[in-house]
Amino acid sequence: MVPLLRRGAARLLPALRRQPVLAAGGRGPDQLRPCRAGQRRGAGDGGTHLHRGGGGLLPPRGAAATARRRPERLRASCLCGALRFTLPGPAGEITACHCRRCRTLSGHFAASFDAEETSLQWEDRQGLAEYRTAGGGVRGFCAGCGSSLWFRAADGAFSVEAGCIDGPTGGRLARHIHVADKGGYYALNDGLPQAAED
Ligand SMILES: [Zn+2]
Ligand SMILES: [Zn+2]
Repeated sequence: MVPLLRRGAARLLPALRRQPVLAAGGRGPDQLRPCRAGQRRGAGDGGTHLHRGGGGLLPPRGAAATARRRPERLRASCLCGALRFTLPGPAGEITACHCRRCRTLSGHFAASFDAEETSLQWEDRQGLAEYRTAGGGVRGFCAGCGSSLWFRAADGAFSVEAGCIDGPTGGRLARHIHVADKGGYYALNDGLPQAAED
């Protein structure tokens, strides 16, 4: 049985290697597109790519590449541009939440990273609306375009939605949580840790 299993695993490996790679800080669906070197310059983190299981980042090309990969300041905005703020970077570890609430809110699933709420510097917050969740948390979103920007849990823990960051985040998707609640129409096979809840 073991050799059979090993052969099965060996057949799977090339398929896994062909899976789309994650571009650190890529926006939304871009993260799921195959890496085409040179075609997405400027997207993601300075055009560098993270290859699953391959040991992480490609070698940076000089200080400029490093600065793009680990920005000291992140800029965030909503879709219509009415809300804009900055916060310290890099984003670090990004968590994908597949709970029912996040899936309903986002239309797919949510990706966010921890931040100090007091570290946000707002450039424009007119139009910021808040939605109080059943669990006692608060979601910050744009009243004009509906973009989801942040979440403050009942215990005060604060996170910023990764998708609202403009340009490089300096972060990378690190885990999936609430996968017991995930939608049945997609698979999670990026090799990252998964938690049934959180
Ligand atoms: Zn907006
Ligand atoms: Zn969630």
